[in-house]
Amino acid sequence: MQLHRIDRIQYIEVTFPGFSCSTQGFTTRHEGVSRPPYNSLNLGMNTQDQQSNVEGNRSLLGRAFGVNHEAIVTPRQVHGSDILVINEPNEDYTHFLTVEGDAIITNQPDVLIGVCVADCAPILICDPDKRVIAAVHAGWKGTASRLVSKTVAGMKTEFGSDPGRLHAAIGPCIQKCCYEVDEPVKKAFQQNGIPWDTSAELKTSGKWQLDLATANEELLLAAGVPKDSIQISGQCVCCHSEQFFSYRRDKDEAGRQMGFIMLNSR
Ligand SMILES: [Zn+2]
Repeated sequence: MQLHRIDRIQYIEVTFPGFSCSTQGFTTRHEGVSRPPYNSLNLGMNTQDQQSNVEGNRSLLGRAFGVNHEAIVTPRQVHGSDILVINEPNEDYTHFLTVEGDAIITNQPDVLIGVCVADCAPILICDPDKRVIAAVHAGWKGTASRLVSKTVAGMKTEFGSDPGRLHAAIGPCIQKCCYEVDEPVKKAFQQNGIPWDTSAELKTSGKWQLDLATANEELLLAAGVPKDSIQISGQCVCCHSEQFFSYRRDKDEAGRQMGFIMLNSR
């Protein structure tokens, strides 16, 4: 993964080695049109930023990757575990923007799908064999509910994907250094059988530092995705205010970056 620029979009480009069936990456906050504190490439629909600025930023993203705004789909994220599946062509995909979900899967080319995040982990998945892609929004709730595992299962049942052939990338998110959590988070992980000792480090009594990326990597491995097919950014969005938005750092003044992926036409 490395910083790359197309048009005026600066993003962390992800390449899945040996495969060119998709284009994907993680945006940074640079060179959009939003004013402080949302400066400047705020792509989240549910912030207090001006809607026209968010739409302007989404148009800039689309323009960089050759799609118009009708072909950019991010579900209405609610920290749940529903998955939006798009399995047929649409003239206009914007009606999907109102569908609640925290993951999205499609086999349709030239539709840029994504998830908007401020601290949560954006996870991109690609199946080069069946030509299917997915994007997952995994905060602690999504991780505790095993959303990334459900997404892999969804790719398998809906499109026949073999987990052993999938590639995944976990983008910049809040890291262990900045992510203190307490007992309810531990309880939610343990209730869902997610190993706590590898996901979190004890800080003081009743306080842990949670490692979202590692927890989701464990879920991907358990779902059958090979370790050498999983890339992890490791960058902390909370530590790097010049590069990324962070909700824990900026609260309601936080914009959103996007993890995005698009299947290329043959
Ligand atoms: Zn940090």
